[in-house]
Amino acid sequence: MTTDPRLERIAELLTLKADGQYGLADITQRQHALQAAWLAEKLGCAEPLIVASLLHDIGHLVHDLGDNPAEAGVDDRHEERGYEFLTAWFGPEVTEPVRLHVAAKRYLCATEADYFSKLSKDSVLSLSLQGGPMSPAEVAAFDALPGSAEAVQLRRFDEQAKVKNLETPPVQHFLPYVARCLMPA
Ligand code: FE
Repeated sequence: MTTDPRLERIAELLTLKADGQYGLADITQRQHALQAAWLAEKLGCAEPLIVASLLHDIGHLVHDLGDNPAEAGVDDRHEERGYEFLTAWFGPEVTEPVRLHVAAKRYLCATEADYFSKLSKDSVLSLSLQGGPMSPAEVAAFDALPGSAEAVQLRRFDEQAKVKNLETPPVQHFLPYVARCLMPA
């Protein structure tokens, strides 16, 4: 059986390129991705959302802006890069939550009173670069988008997936989900 080269590329990004620090948290990009995917799996989420959780920050791994561009006042637009990278290989059930996961933070800051106070330091820093909390009109427009509910769910996993020294299943464990969500080659 030959392995799909797209699957190999994703495995390579997550295993070889993901040793960089995740923002200001004391974990690597790989640990962050695995923790997010594991949260989705444990909650029994649909496979595309598990895959979206695993790959939501792949935009950080395909750029060269360093580990925490927000600290330097740069919005790296990693959700756009991730979306562009993934959109040739996956359908909207995977790519839309990835594309919208930063907007989902702006959404939650506008719609949940205590959400902002729960944000990590680097999320607060990047929030202002990303446009701050949504206006009521932006909230309504976001609600109407396909995949926005999944993006909000992904956002919650994203915030929780910053636990130092938390053991998770390895990258290999999640690759079958990725394989099943790939579009026919
Ligand atoms: Fe993240």
